Amino acid sequence: MIVSSKLPGVGTTIFTVMSALAQEHGAINLAQGFPDFPSSQRLNELVAHYMRQGYNQYAPMAGVPILRQRIAEKIDGLYGVKIDPDKEITITCGATEGIFTAIGALVSPGDEVIIFEPAYDSYRPSIELFGGMTKSFELSAPDYTIDWDRLMRLISMKTRMIIINTPQNPIGKILKPADMQALEKLVSSSDIIILSDEVYEHMVYDGHEHQSVLRYPALRERALAVYSFGKTFHNTGWRIGYCVAPPALTAEFRKVHQFNVFSINTPMQYALADFLEDPHEYLGLGTFFTHKRDFFLDAIEGSLFRPLLSEGSYFQLCDYSQISTEPDVDFCRRLTMEYGVAAIPVSVFYHSKRDEKIIRFCFAKKEETLERAAKLLREIGKI
Ligand code: GLN
Repeated sequence: MIVSSKLPGVGTTIFTVMSALAQEHGAINLAQGFPDFPSSQRLNELVAHYMRQGYNQYAPMAGVPILRQRIAEKIDGLYGVKIDPDKEITITCGATEGIFTAIGALVSPGDEVIIFEPAYDSYRPSIELFGGMTKSFELSAPDYTIDWDRLMRLISMKTRMIIINTPQNPIGKILKPADMQALEKLVSSSDIIILSDEVYEHMVYDGHEHQSVLRYPALRERALAVYSFGKTFHNTGWRIGYCVAPPALTAEFRKVHQFNVFSINTPMQYALADFLEDPHEYLGLGTFFTHKRDFFLDAIEGSLFRPLLSEGSYFQLCDYSQISTEPDVDFCRRLTMEYGVAAIPVSVFYHSKRDEKIIRFCFAKKEETLERAAKLLREIGKI
C-alpha cells in the first residue's frame, strides 16, 4: 500500500535525532533543551502526595481550577494583568500541544501565517498540516534584529496569524518594548491573531524584562500566549504547560484541545498549584540561569568557538567558522561522534537552510557537565 504523506518534507525532529546520536556515541548532550539537574524534591513529593491521595482520574478538560487560579495570580504578579482563570486559561500537554492546538483551532486552508526564522521546528509543520501557508521572515546573525517595515510587506489580506517567540529559540534573543510597539501598530487595525510562544519567560538576562504579549492591551486582545512548566520547573518530561487567551479565542482553542488530549495529568496539576504559591520558585530563575550562561561562557573561553550574545532562553549560540567550513549539520554530527559534545545546527530552523556556521548549545546543565563539555570544546583546533 502506498501512503501519501500530509507532510512529505518532514523528517524526525532535530532534537530527537541529536539526542539519539549523543546517546549512541556517549557524547555530552548540550543539544536538546532540557536540564540534567533534578526538579524540586518538594514538587516531586507533592505529586506523590496527590497520587497517594487518589487524584488519579481525569482532570477537568480545561485544567484543574486551583491551578488555573494560581496561574492567574502569577500573571497578575508578573505582568499586572487580570486574567479570568475560567474563561482564559487552559492547561496543555506542554507548550508544543498549546501551539499545535492554537494553530489547529484558528488556521484554515489558504490562511497565511508569518513566522520568524530561525523558528522552533514545530511551527511550520503544524501550520501546513491544517492547510495554512507559512510566510517566513528570515533574521540574520549576529543580531537577528527585526526590520518591522520590511515585515509589513509580508502582510496580506490572507494573513491570519503571526507567531512570535520571546526569548527566541534557538537564537536566545528577546523582543524589546520597541518591537512590541511596532507589532501593535502593525496589527491594530486588522483581525490578525498573535500566537506568542513565551516558554522561556523567566530566563531573561542582563537587566532586561520579559516583554509578554499580555502586557500590551492591543496585542493581548488578539493573542494566545503559551507557557511551559517543564522549562520553568526543570521537568520537561511531565509535559505540562498552559495557554492564556481572551474568552473567544480560548473557546475555539478548547474545541480542539478537548479532542486532541482531552485533559492533562491530574496529580501534577494539583502539585503545581501548591508549588506556585511561592513565587520564589520562579522569580530566581533569571539569576540562576545567568550564572549558568556565564559559567559556560567562561569555560569555553580560549576555544575557537565565538559566542553570540544570549539575552534569554537557556541557549547559547556559537560561531564555529574558525574551526571548520563544513555545513553546520555535518559539523554537529562530527562534534558529537568525534569530539563527544552534542549541539544543534541552526540551519535546520530556516526553511531556506541558511547556514551561517552557527550552532546552539543548551546550558541548562550542572556546572560539572558544562565544565566537562567545555574542556572538550577547548581542545578542538582547526579541522
Ligand atoms: N524545546 C526544546 C529545545 O528547543 C526541545 C523540545 C522537544 O524536543 N520537543 O531543545
